[in-house]
Amino acid sequence: MERIGFELVVDALGFAALKHRDQRRKDREASPYINHPIALMRVLSLEAGIVDPLVMAGALLHDTVEDTETTPEELEARFGSELRALVMEVTDDRSLPKAERKRQQVLRAGGASEGARLVKLADKICNLRDMAESPPHSWDLERRRAYFDWAAEVIGQLRGTHAVLEALFDQAYARKPREDQD
Ligand code: ZN
Repeated sequence: MERIGFELVVDALGFAALKHRDQRRKDREASPYINHPIALMRVLSLEAGIVDPLVMAGALLHDTVEDTETTPEELEARFGSELRALVMEVTDDRSLPKAERKRQQVLRAGGASEGARLVKLADKICNLRDMAESPPHSWDLERRRAYFDWAAEVIGQLRGTHAVLEALFDQAYARKPREDQD
C-alpha cells in the first residue's frame, strides 16, 4: 500500500538517513549529511507552515539520487511515482559538466511542479545560510559570492511560488559576503 501521510514522512526520513549514512557536509564540523535534508524540512514546516507530506518527503529525499547510489526506480517502488517525479525534478544530471548543470538549474526552475519549486526554495535557503555561517573551508570569497548570485538566479525563475519562502530566501541572500570581507 502506498503511504500518503505521516508514515510517508517517517519512512522517507529513515530511507534518507540510511542512504546518506557515510556522507558528511563540507562545513568545518563535517556535520552528518542527513542534517541538510532535515534542515529543509524544518524550513518548509516550521518556518513556512507547509504541511503537505509529499513535499516533506520530497525534501528528505531530494539529494538521494544525486548524491547516493539510489535509483529513480527504487524511489518509485518504495514511495510511488509522484515522489519519484518530484525528486527527479530537483536532481541534477551528473553526466553533465558542472557549469552546464548549474545552467540547467536556472533553465528548469520555472517549469518545475509546485512541490519541486518548494523543495528548491528550501534547498537554496539552507545552502545560503550554511554558506554564510559555516562555508566549506576550501571556498574562497569570490566562489562564495558567485554561489549566492547563482542561487538568486535560480530562485528568480520561480518567483510567485510561495511568498514566505521567497522572503526567507531574500533574508538569506542579504548575508552574501561583501567584497571587502574575509
Ligand atoms: Zn540539497
